[in-house]
Amino acid sequence: MLKRMRVLTKLTVEVPLGIGRALDYTAPVELAVRPFSCVEISVGSRAHVGLVTAVSTIEDDPALKLKAISRVISAPLPAAVVELARFVADYYQVGLGMACGLITPNDAAPAAQPIGWRLTAIGQDAIAQITAKQTAHRSLADAFAACDDGLLSVEVRSTLSASAKKALNDWLQTGRAEAVFAVQRRGSFSPNLPAFTAEQSDAVVALRAKRTGFHVSLLHGVTGSGKTEVYLDLVAATLNAGKQVMLLVPEINLTPQLVDRVIAALPDVPTAIMHSKISPTERNRAWHDVYSGSARLIIGTRLAVFAPAAELGLIVIDEEHDSSYKQGESPRYHARDAAIVRAQHAGIPVVLASATPSLESWRQARAGRYQHIRLHQRATASQPSAMRLIPAKGRRVKSGLSELLADGISDRLAKKEQSLVLVNRRGFSPALYCPHCAWSAPCKRCDAKLTLHQITRSLRCHHCGFHTGVPTNCPACGHPELAGVGVGTQKLEAALIEAFPDARIARADTDALTGKYAWQQLYEKILAREIDIVVGTQMLAKGHDFPALTLVGVVDADRALFSTDFRAQEDMYALLTQVAGRAGRHSLPGEVMIQTEFPDHPIFQSLLKSDYDGFADATLASRDAMGLPPLTRMALIRGESKDAQAVAEFFTYAHSILRNALAESDGEVFAPQPAPLARKADFTRWTMTAIAPKVRPMADALAKLRDAMQLAKPKVRWAIDVDPYDFS
Ligand code: ADP
Ligand code: ZN
Ligand code: ZN
Repeated sequence: MLKRMRVLTKLTVEVPLGIGRALDYTAPVELAVRPFSCVEISVGSRAHVGLVTAVSTIEDDPALKLKAISRVISAPLPAAVVELARFVADYYQVGLGMACGLITPNDAAPAAQPIGWRLTAIGQDAIAQITAKQTAHRSLADAFAACDDGLLSVEVRSTLSASAKKALNDWLQTGRAEAVFAVQRRGSFSPNLPAFTAEQSDAVVALRAKRTGFHVSLLHGVTGSGKTEVYLDLVAATLNAGKQVMLLVPEINLTPQLVDRVIAALPDVPTAIMHSKISPTERNRAWHDVYSGSARLIIGTRLAVFAPAAELGLIVIDEEHDSSYKQGESPRYHARDAAIVRAQHAGIPVVLASATPSLESWRQARAGRYQHIRLHQRATASQPSAMRLIPAKGRRVKSGLSELLADGISDRLAKKEQSLVLVNRRGFSPALYCPHCAWSAPCKRCDAKLTLHQITRSLRCHHCGFHTGVPTNCPACGHPELAGVGVGTQKLEAALIEAFPDARIARADTDALTGKYAWQQLYEKILAREIDIVVGTQMLAKGHDFPALTLVGVVDADRALFSTDFRAQEDMYALLTQVAGRAGRHSLPGEVMIQTEFPDHPIFQSLLKSDYDGFADATLASRDAMGLPPLTRMALIRGESKDAQAVAEFFTYAHSILRNALAESDGEVFAPQPAPLARKADFTRWTMTAIAPKVRPMADALAKLRDAMQLAKPKVRWAIDVDPYDFS
């Protein structure tokens, strides 16, 4: 006799575990799980969120040993978001599961409390079949029928009988009802925007002309030209058309005032903030708000590009040239490029805003593929900062601080104005050395010098975290006096304190500003004029607005001139332009002093004339001549191991695979070489770059490399970085 088997739904689920394949689970047929829903599953004993990519019906068979899913987290994600995950997997060379980890909610914890429940389409049908005898189900159906808009609120639920409450749980489990998290509020928002200048009005008209369909506009305006107001006009228009809007910003914790400004301009708009510094619960909540459509505006850092907005009508990327849009670890996506791909799938416009567009965007605008909208004038009456080059050699007051810069600072102190002294990078910091035998303190585990930290009197490695005390005598020759070399923020701060003992001096870098609110507090002190001189890294350059800040000194710009990183000059141009925009934003005139040994260098000449076009065209031409991005596609292969031999073997093999794979497509792979930081925490590190003229051959060649390594199983940690920004 045949035994009748139970029928189940089999789900293929992508899980972000780097296992390289999807896993199969089951669910009751009544749940009616659809492809691209998010589900909670367990792998081993741990709970994970996965994305359902295929659904089929099977007969229950214990021999299959399939586990059931724990619960359904969401109905299907918007198609454009799923497409985006597929793009990330394919383009950035990661498994689909890892890419799906970007689009699913980050946390398996339950979302916020719902405000009520609603019947699903299945539920509407099911209600008709309830018999009078099923009293609990009947009374629940009646309760739904009596509700406004079909929303059974938390208050109404509390009046239900225990058995009707149980029936509600049952309906939720079986997909007949769903939770609702917030009331949807669409249109009509009236933005608080100033009366536009003539130039801004033209820009607004140009942007509004491209409000629907896929289209990229480059909103290119000098610092202070009022780009924010211009794109906010389009944001408001899009919101009022009933669409959601996404605004990407570089690093929210560094630009809280931009968020405040946007919220002040669009006060009634339900907004979700998404970035990596909010708690998992807050992030989960934001995800569901965006997914349900209750959040209309999404403001976030690079990760927000994956937000599950089904009704997205516009993506704006502020400071589009900022390198924080590129993710440093796997999946190494670039949010600007991902946004453009997403907009293409969704058929919506993208606005890229910058004073110094990336050469990637510049090339597209020059070729006429992006609409190039220019703002040449400041929106307010304030004068642009005057820029001056001052010789770095010559007379010094103190380490790193030239006499001219010191004079500039004391002039500001006398006038009760503020100065900012910028140091390019945290890594460029004082090393300890012996003036007698030239010994300097190395990290035991890396090819790096240890950095001298004055406050803790310690030597620290910025790469591996190794730290040790400061020796009193030279370990090599016994000389009793060791000195610090190089300019770091701490050393410069010390020099400033010595030169200006009565000034109130603050340091802003990632060492000084630990803790969630440290930067916010310093920001407020600067605004309140409780600080006279700020010294710090590029974090000071991000869109801040300090009315009394009238002098910016840049002490080590020259570092970028000789960098091995082909983007170093582009980055420096953007940094100096941005930092110059910090001074003199208001009625007081600003001045920027750049200390350099190479005043004739073309980059400084372009900066002095505010000739971004000249700089960008010249730099692009030399990139093209050298076959570098953005003309070509680049990929960086990294490999590291404690076993140097294994690294060498890996690269020999990887090099031959890539060379063969790229041979037919005019691609090229360069010889492997030690990474700039060749040893890090006892690991030997090498890199190798490949270049191809087109996307597809590069992606195919890299996929071949991954396949080959899956078989070869090299004993190294290795990774592919497509469109790399970090070469260290
Ligand atoms: P950008 O982003 O182009 O550097 P912002 O949008 O920050 O410039 O604008 C610079 C300053 O000018 C801001 O304080 C802004 O509020 C102000 N602003 C912009 N447009 C106008 C306008 N039309 N009238 C008056 N002030 C404006
Ligand atoms: Zn010595
Ligand atoms: Zn180290």
